Amino acid sequence: MAHSFHHAQSSAKRFGGEPQDYQAIHDFMDSSKSTYADFRHRAILHSTFGIFITEQVFGVTITNSDGKKIPVRIIAEQHVREDHNGKIPTVEEWLHGIPMEAWMNPSPAFQRALMESIAE
Ligand SMILES: [Zn+2]
Repeated sequence: MAHSFHHAQSSAKRFGGEPQDYQAIHDFMDSSKSTYADFRHRAILHSTFGIFITEQVFGVTITNSDGKKIPVRIIAEQHVREDHNGKIPTVEEWLHGIPMEAWMNPSPAFQRALMESIAE
């Protein structure tokens, strides 16, 4: 799905209530698009781990406008599945596709200098 609004429409159809009951959750999950404009932004929150982070942000359940409690994790899972052909990727699967760069792992000399700078 291209837009968080469509995920919210899908949530309302599946779980009841109105799309706006779910909009904030889907906006949060797609908020990483503000830093990376193509589909790779999904590596940040569209994973098993991202689903649990979303639950920590919004709580275990939300109450929709029909008065029904819906687990946030189930809503987040719906979002990720809709963006990945039914699959929920793990963080490992996302990270596996990222090439290693030298800056990702500090050099021993940098670490030594850092430790010396904070030694008492
Ligand atoms: Zn998305």
